[in-house]
Amino acid sequence: MFKGYLTANPDYDENDEDSVEFVVNTNKDIIDYELAAHGLSIVEVKRTDNTWSIVLDSPYNRRITANTPTTLSGPVAGSHWVQTTADPSGTDVIGTLNNCAGGTTPWGTVVSGEENFQQYFANLDQISDGDPVKDNHRRFGLVDGSSERRWEEVYERFDLGQEPNEPLRFGWAIEIDPFNPESTPKKRTAMGRNKHEGHTSVVSPSGKVAVYSGDDERFEYAYKFVTEGTYNASDREANLDLLDSGTLYVARFNDDGTGEWLPLVFGENGLDESNGFNTQADILVNPRAAGDIVGATRMDRPEDFETNPVNQKVYLVCTNNTKRGTDGMPDVDESNPRPENSTGHIIEITENDNDHAATTFTWEMFLLAGDPEDESTWFAGFPKESVSPIASPDNITFDTAGNIWISTDGLPSSFEGNDGLFATPVEGSERGYLRQFFSSVDGAEVSGPIFNPDSTALWTSVQHPGEGGTIDEPITLWPDGTGTARPAVVLITRDDGGVIGQ
Ligand code: CA
Ligand code: CA
Ligand code: CA
Repeated sequence: MFKGYLTANPDYDENDEDSVEFVVNTNKDIIDYELAAHGLSIVEVKRTDNTWSIVLDSPYNRRITANTPTTLSGPVAGSHWVQTTADPSGTDVIGTLNNCAGGTTPWGTVVSGEENFQQYFANLDQISDGDPVKDNHRRFGLVDGSSERRWEEVYERFDLGQEPNEPLRFGWAIEIDPFNPESTPKKRTAMGRNKHEGHTSVVSPSGKVAVYSGDDERFEYAYKFVTEGTYNASDREANLDLLDSGTLYVARFNDDGTGEWLPLVFGENGLDESNGFNTQADILVNPRAAGDIVGATRMDRPEDFETNPVNQKVYLVCTNNTKRGTDGMPDVDESNPRPENSTGHIIEITENDNDHAATTFTWEMFLLAGDPEDESTWFAGFPKESVSPIASPDNITFDTAGNIWISTDGLPSSFEGNDGLFATPVEGSERGYLRQFFSSVDGAEVSGPIFNPDSTALWTSVQHPGEGGTIDEPITLWPDGTGTARPAVVLITRDDGGVIGQ
């Protein structure tokens, strides 16, 4: 069935990074397989002494795929933007797509970002010029003609000529309750629509919950959502719809090291009829356009965005942006200081009074990644001769001591070697003393590192191992050494069961 799935693209241009080397031959069986392979898995794991295992018969284990029923909730639900032929209510969406870095909430749910949803939809040219829906799709990179996987040939919801609004039902933060296997995942539209990565939740002193998220595209913005309601530590159920109402903010980084969270609220700061916004839903379905109006700062691919539970600071990871400062593109600024930034950086943010619901902050550069011999690098002031080279930081996490752990996605294109996992203290005399902890295999990125609560176990994913190889000429057969390379989750523990990295 899969024989001949990929064939060489006669139009391939190796000098164009957007050009694809192979095109897909597909059919309904393959497409159904792909739809089922998208999404997320909930898997219960348990520790007995110092041995971790998967609970194969756990009632919590389930798959949420591109075919799983989900609900749209919040201000955009039911609006004209998200109504389709199959769902005139604009509330019942089939599936979730391209789930990227996520996070957990204080009430024990998971929030995952629907990242590069644009790639699944075809035939933008079938929508009339001047239609606001087309303008929206353009901002998110949807294309004329067929999509790479050509799902539209079997399922018309992926064909913009048939269902122009279907992509507007993706690109959301989707909240999943892993403790209720019967629960329907909810797309929380109050948190805005973009190519979300990471959703780090933290309870502010007032009890309101702040959720930080990036938008992984060159020159896009960094966001924070602050709930209207407050967290109730004694009643889990009371928190389950907290993410449906609140204020979405976008970040402005001033060159003097101060910054502001600019509210994306209908009627404020030019977000009104004069700029094409008639409702809050109009803003939330395209926060990128709203960010343009309010004067947010265009970042170098803001991916993960996480709070450090020890020092309360917030870290924004900008993977890279080789277009920075090039012809016709935004120039450098203090928060994105390097032209043609191929190796990325991390910004450290201190919210006013360490209040995560605050609307002002200060910031400083924490890491300008790259080869330490490159003059433009910066490791929080630590002497560069002692640190590890690093490029394209992507996902981060923190251990119980507040050390930052950084996974990378960009090698070998940014420099030689394989992507890995790195760590450094953020406070004290070793602030910036970055050392590599783990290396992945050829053609893979490392993503989603996370510790258990006492930092005795560390999980991370090895994504797309063997990318760049073929079935006939693989560059790795990780993890089994036979068959084909497969992505997998890695669990790291110490032989003595102790705390990792401290
Ligand atoms: Ca990404
Ligand atoms: Ca990522
Ligand atoms: Ca990435």
